[in-house]
Amino acid sequence: MKNLVKINAKRCKSCGLCVHVCPKKILGIGEIANDKGYYAVEMKDQTKCIACAFCALICPDLALEVYREEKGE
Ligand code: SF4
Ligand code: SF4
Repeated sequence: MKNLVKINAKRCKSCGLCVHVCPKKILGIGEIANDKGYYAVEMKDQTKCIACAFCALICPDLALEVYREEKGE
């Protein structure tokens, strides 16, 4: 499996912390509102993700999960 960030859009409150902390600047606030009316964060370029997990660690709402590519696959 390649590096992957799973976004639980229902939990996102659009605070933007993950957008700012991502060293690759590949997260952005999306244009689709979730059922609470927040514009959930979106992945712009998954191929550039280095699976550092900064985004998941800073998210106060546990909306992000990061999976790291296993070497040797
Ligand atoms: S794991 Fe790191 S590089 Fe990937 S989206 Fe999150 S902060 Fe950005
Ligand atoms: S840090 Fe969490 S709640 Fe804030 S924008 Fe990112 S995913 Fe949404």
